[in-house]
Amino acid sequence: MKNDCVFCAIAAGEIPSFKVYEDDDTLAYLDINPFSKGHVLVIPKAHSSCILDTPDETLSKLVLKVRDVAAKAKAALGCDGFNILQNNGESAGQTVKHLHFHIVPRYGAGPVDFESHKADMEELKALAEKIAAV
Ligand code: 5GP
Ligand code: ZN
Repeated sequence: MKNDCVFCAIAAGEIPSFKVYEDDDTLAYLDINPFSKGHVLVIPKAHSSCILDTPDETLSKLVLKVRDVAAKAKAALGCDGFNILQNNGESAGQTVKHLHFHIVPRYGAGPVDFESHKADMEELKALAEKIAAV
């Protein structure tokens, strides 16, 4: 665990999150400022700053979980599709220096946007429960 890392604190349960999946190595929870309804972040519990300093085993396990969580989200939310994003470095838009994959559900036609939105906490809670239940 890295002391000043917000996602390590979430993984340790020191900061609350709306969990959708958890196992020994992996945690998935809703993004607090979602791009779309049901935007999930998937992280390894072990700290690495980005994809480049992540051990092979951690990354291999994580990618399979990203796929599984995306399948759960799609089934729960009924979205048409989803984007998987993974930012490395400030110029790429990485704001939290703990490896994470975004799963961004997409609904119907319209432009694909990557803008953060303010979320209603009750809605996040309900969405997390719905995805976790799949
Ligand atoms: P990045 O831009 O680094 O790829 O994405 C970081 C994401 O983490 C952002 O979408 C941001 O909304 C989300 N985020 C930052 N702090 C927290 C937090 O404390 N809890 C949750 N659930 N999401 C967070
Ligand atoms: Zn961390």
